[in-house]
Amino acid sequence: MYLQFSSPVHQIEDALFTDQKVELYLKRDDLIHPLISGNKWRKLKYLLADAQYQQKTHLVTFGGAFSNHLLATASAAATLGFKTTGFVRGEKVSNDTLFMCSLLGMKLIFTDRSSYQHKQELFLAHFFNDPEAYFIDEGGASAQAAFGCSELVDELPEKYDHLFCASGTGTTAAGIINGLVGNGLSTQFHAIPVFKNADWMKQEIKKYLLKEVSFNLHTGYGFGGYAKTTPELITFIKKFIAATGILIDPVYTGKMLFAVYDLARKNYFLPGSKILAIHTGGTFGLLGMKNQFQI
Ligand SMILES: *Cc1c(COP(=O)(O)O)cnc(C)c1O
Repeated sequence: MYLQFSSPVHQIEDALFTDQKVELYLKRDDLIHPLISGNKWRKLKYLLADAQYQQKTHLVTFGGAFSNHLLATASAAATLGFKTTGFVRGEKVSNDTLFMCSLLGMKLIFTDRSSYQHKQELFLAHFFNDPEAYFIDEGGASAQAAFGCSELVDELPEKYDHLFCASGTGTTAAGIINGLVGNGLSTQFHAIPVFKNADWMKQEIKKYLLKEVSFNLHTGYGFGGYAKTTPELITFIKKFIAATGILIDPVYTGKMLFAVYDLARKNYFLPGSKILAIHTGGTFGLLGMKNQFQI
C-alpha cells in the first residue's frame, strides 16, 4: 500500500470568533487527495489493506449518482491496481462524478432502487463465481472504516475543547469518538447530521462505538434533507469560500460549518474555547450542486 496521508490543521479567522473570544480550526482532510478525499480515504484505508491481504483484485461497491465514496473507490482502485465495479442507485444518468469514475476505470452498473436495497444479493448475483471480487458496503461502512477514522485523532497537534463533524452514516463520527476516548481526551464531540430530523443518527453512531460515551447531536442543521439547500446555506457557503479560499460543499461540510458559526453567534461556546471542525473532503461534489448557486 503506497497511499499514505495525514492532513494539516489551519486556523479560520473571522470577526465572529474574535468577538466571541474563541478559536476555530479546520482539519484539512480535503487536502489528503483530490479524489480519494477526506473521510472516504480514512474509511477505505483498512478495507483496501484487507482486500490486498486476501489477494482480491476486484473492488465492488455501491453509491448514489453523486457519491464521493464511488469516486474515492474508483481513484484508489486505479492507483493501487484493482479492477473496480460500482453499483449506482437509480436509473442511468451522466454527471461529473460518474464521468470521473468511468475515466478511472470503474465499471458502472445502474440498479433500480428496490434491487439496490439488497446489496449482498446484488454482489452474489453478479460475482458468485469471481473469487477475486471484494465487497465494500455503501460509503465503506464497517468497523474497519471506523478504525481508519479514529486515526485522525492521533494526528492532532494540540487539545481542543470541541470537535465538529458532518454525519451521513455516522461511521466517521463513531471512529473519531473512539479516537478521542483512546487518546484519553475530554474534547466534546458534536455530530451534525446532514438529514432532516435525524434523531436516529445517535443510534447509528453508537453502533461503532467501542465504549459508551456521551456526545452531542445537533439535528437543526439538515436544511430540509439530504442534498437539500436553502438560500441562507448557499449564501454562507459563498461567503466562506471567498473569505478563506477553502472549498466547502452544500451536502456535508457547508452544513457542518454553518452549524459552528450559528452556535458561535448564539454564544454556545465559552470564551477561550478552541474548536476543531473536520473538513471531511468531498469538494468534487460541489460540481453536482452548481445550479444551486446562481453564479
Ligand atoms: C461521506 C461523507 C461524510 C459522511 O461520513 P459518514 O461516515 O457516512 O458519516 C461527511 N462528509 C463528506 C464530505 C462525505 O463525503
